[in-house]
Amino acid sequence: MDDQVGPRELGEDWTSRLAELVAGSPVNLVSRRDRGDVRRLHIDECVLVASALRLRPGARWMDLGTGGGLPGLVLAGAFPGVSWVLLDARAKKVDQVRSFATALGLANVEAVHARAEDLWSDRTATGGFDGVISRAVGSLEHTAALARGFVTTGQIVSIRGPRAVQEVERFGSSADDLGLLVDEVVKIDGTIRPTWLVRMRGQGPAPADFPSTRRTLLRSTRGGASDGPARA
Ligand code: SAH
Repeated sequence: MDDQVGPRELGEDWTSRLAELVAGSPVNLVSRRDRGDVRRLHIDECVLVASALRLRPGARWMDLGTGGGLPGLVLAGAFPGVSWVLLDARAKKVDQVRSFATALGLANVEAVHARAEDLWSDRTATGGFDGVISRAVGSLEHTAALARGFVTTGQIVSIRGPRAVQEVERFGSSADDLGLLVDEVVKIDGTIRPTWLVRMRGQGPAPADFPSTRRTLLRSTRGGASDGPARA
């Protein structure tokens, strides 16, 4: 759509500052072995993800399972006209994300502490998102099931690792059950580790049997969910 815009340039100072905040946090926001190189392993990847997106100013997006604010803080910096809800189930992480947003001068971020599934019942707060993005929260099925409750015809973008194409092949019938269509599977060039975006779109309101579908999916994919920021 032609009213969509690309990201603005964030600049070295801004991205380095974010890397310092994440690496220096007393809360473990990335794995210990990644701490020395947060900039290259995490921030740069999110900047490249931002460059693959075109978003509508005024839109409302969520980063589901934002952890230390990835990719949400980068996207909020890159798309200042979009409002961002950065959601995580861990209160300590959400507190960190809120303070990082202030330190980085981001006025378009709301850091929310909740489990995604606990917000589903509040349809006014949920179905109205233009999009949900998520990185390293679990399998493609798990991520899609968690995110589905927040969109009607909006997008779901899952940032995946090297097995993205096989994951999408396996995902087929679950996507139908969830009322989602996979629009596109895109490789992001230039990242330090293979990175793919799986873009899906809600095909209308969540199906009538959605709660039970979701529960089944979440049960069957729970093994794929991770609490640490290892990428799937
Ligand atoms: N996206 C970040 C963090 C990945 S770790 C990054 O790429 O670095 C996964 C995060 O998802 C954890 O912080 C965990 O608390 C959060 N999470 C897992 N399941 C969740 C759920 N059901 N609702 C909200 N947050 C969840």
